[in-house]
Amino acid sequence: MGFDINLFVGCVDEELICSICTDVLKQAIQLTPCQHLYCSSCLNMWFQMAPKTTCPVDGTEVNKTNITAIPRCIRNMLSKLTIKCQDCNEVMTLSKYENHNCFQEILSQMGDYINQIDQVLIDLEFNQLNN
Ligand SMILES: [Zn+2]
Ligand SMILES: [Zn+2]
Ligand SMILES: [Zn+2]
Repeated sequence: MGFDINLFVGCVDEELICSICTDVLKQAIQLTPCQHLYCSSCLNMWFQMAPKTTCPVDGTEVNKTNITAIPRCIRNMLSKLTIKCQDCNEVMTLSKYENHNCFQEILSQMGDYINQIDQVLIDLEFNQLNN
């Protein structure tokens, strides 16, 4: 499955959409005979369901040697898309999002928050001692 299209900010070029999941291409691959692009996981799933390994859009018969990396220009277009992380609401490029470890960031924010609370408690104690 691709990246949920609803998370993207602004419009996404049709070329960057996977026809199987209708979301934005994730770990995309290209079929050389017809140049269609799909998420690798979607195409794998399709190949497992279909009686023959064909292109889901035009039915071109393909085999493993017909699967190749996506063109550099497509990769660049994908990496420049803007996406909003559902968990932390941060807006970032897709290339950053792919390495975005939200859980870690939330933990570090929580860490700051906990430090602030600690500081408040220390201040309170200090005030009580002085009174
Ligand atoms: Zn897909
Ligand atoms: Zn095709
Ligand atoms: Zn996040």
